[in-house]
Amino acid sequence: MSRNQFRTVSEQENGQWVRYRLLACRCGAEGRIRDTSARLLPVSPLAEAFRRAGWTNVKPDRGTCPSCSAPKPKPIPQEKPVMAVEPPRQPNTEDKRRIREALFAHYLEDKGCYAKAHSDRSVGQSLNVPFAWVSATREALGFGPDVNEAASAFNSEVGAIRQSLTDLQDEVLKLVANRCDELEKRLNAIERAGYKGAA
Ligand SMILES: [Zn+2]
Repeated sequence: MSRNQFRTVSEQENGQWVRYRLLACRCGAEGRIRDTSARLLPVSPLAEAFRRAGWTNVKPDRGTCPSCSAPKPKPIPQEKPVMAVEPPRQPNTEDKRRIREALFAHYLEDKGCYAKAHSDRSVGQSLNVPFAWVSATREALGFGPDVNEAASAFNSEVGAIRQSLTDLQDEVLKLVANRCDELEKRLNAIERAGYKGAA
């Protein structure tokens, strides 16, 4: 229910009745202004007095107290927790042993490649260790590069087909060139002889 007058309360102070005009904030804070006029002070000077005291949105039935009116302090940005950067994990003796065993099992030293489709990556995955450890061990043990039979077979098949294609293209071009030469020579010979007409 809205009111059109500021609330009034009278209190006894030192044997005198003193009248106060009240204004409440939704936070529970209450503002009061001593109203010593013979008759009740009208709304507008009271509102002005509350505004001077720091109140905002001043209406007879409700206002915003100075602390609620103050701009909210900006939240202090939370410092990001500092992530401790751990040094990369190093293989322990057991890791090294398992990697060596896997390399001897899957690397074909005579062919200089992994058997089948094995690779640093697949060995690392099967042992659940970073494949960089496998690469380092393979190199330290003097094995060949990180290639495998499957890739080699694929590469050699692709290479063979590519070569056949090139050979066939050369052959066709040579054939066409020869045939063109031949026809040009015949044409020249006939033209040089000239048209003799009907005898
Ligand atoms: Zn308030």
